[in-house]
Amino acid sequence: MHIFREIAPLKAYLNQQVLMGKTVGLVPTMGALHSGHLSLIQRARTENDVVVCSIYVNPTQFNNLQDLQKYPRDNARDFKMLEEALCDITFCPSDAEMYPETSLLKFDLGDLDKTLEGEFRPGHFSGVALVVSKLLNIVLPHRAYFGQKDFQQFKVVTRLRDELKFNTTLISVPIIREFDGLAMSSRNSRLDVEGRRRAGVLYQSLQLMKTGLIRGQSFSELKTEAAKLCLENQLRLEYLVMAQKSDLTIVQHVVQPENTILLIAAYVGDVRLIDNLFLA
Ligand code: AMP
Repeated sequence: MHIFREIAPLKAYLNQQVLMGKTVGLVPTMGALHSGHLSLIQRARTENDVVVCSIYVNPTQFNNLQDLQKYPRDNARDFKMLEEALCDITFCPSDAEMYPETSLLKFDLGDLDKTLEGEFRPGHFSGVALVVSKLLNIVLPHRAYFGQKDFQQFKVVTRLRDELKFNTTLISVPIIREFDGLAMSSRNSRLDVEGRRRAGVLYQSLQLMKTGLIRGQSFSELKTEAAKLCLENQLRLEYLVMAQKSDLTIVQHVVQPENTILLIAAYVGDVRLIDNLFLA
C-alpha cells in the first residue's frame, strides 16, 4: 500500500493510473478504523481498479473543540487494517497540507443544514462540504463511498456533487453494527464498560419505534416510550425523529414507508452518538 501525505505526488500518481485506463474509488474517513469503514473499502475494492482511503480528522467540521481533541487517532493500526483490506493508497495529509491558510469559504446548505445534525452542530456540514470538495478535487475519483450511518451527510454530499458538477458517482453503504445493534463508530472506543452497555439503547429505541409504527401505533406514543427508555439508561437525547428520506423533512405520520427514516442523536456520558433506521 502506498502512503501519501502530500497532495502533489498523490495527484501525479493517480493521474498516471487514470491514463492507463484505471478507475479510482475514494473512501473518505477520519481514521480510527473499524469494520464499518472496512465495508466501504471492500465495496470500493469490488468496483474500482485503484482504492484510495483518506484519513484526515478535519478540524473545520468540529463545532466542539473537546470533541476534536478527544477524537481517537491511531495511524499505525489504521494502515495495518487498510493493508489487510487490500486498499491501494492511503492519503493521510497534515492540517498544513489541507489548510495552508485559514479557509474563507463557508457553505450555506439551506434547509439541509438547519435540521438534525445541522441544528445541533452548527457549521458542521459547511466543514464537511469544504473537506469533501477538497478531497474530490484532489483525488478526482470515479466513485466515492459513504456510510448510511451519516445519512444527512450523504444528502449534503449529493447536493454538493450535483451543484458543483463533480464527476463522481456517490455510493451509500449500509450500517455495520455490533452484536447488540450499536452502530460501529470511532467514538465508541471512548465509552467505558457501563457506557458501552447503555449505548445499545440508541438502536433499541429505533427498533422499538420501527416495530410499533409497522404495527400501526402512533409516532408520538412511540416516541414517548423510546424517550423514557433513553432516560432510564441515562442517555441525553438530542433528537429522535421521523423524516422523509428524500429531503429530510420531519414528519409525524408514515405516508410512504419506503421514503421514511428514523434518526437519533444522544449523548452517552460525554460521547455523542448518532444512528438511523429505514422503515422499509
Ligand atoms: P468517519 O471516519 O466517522 O468520518 O466515517 C467515514 C465513513 O465511514 C463515513 O462515510 C461514515 O458514514 C462511514 N461509517 C462510519 N461508521 C459506519 C458504520 N458503522 N457502518 C458503515 N459505514 C460507516
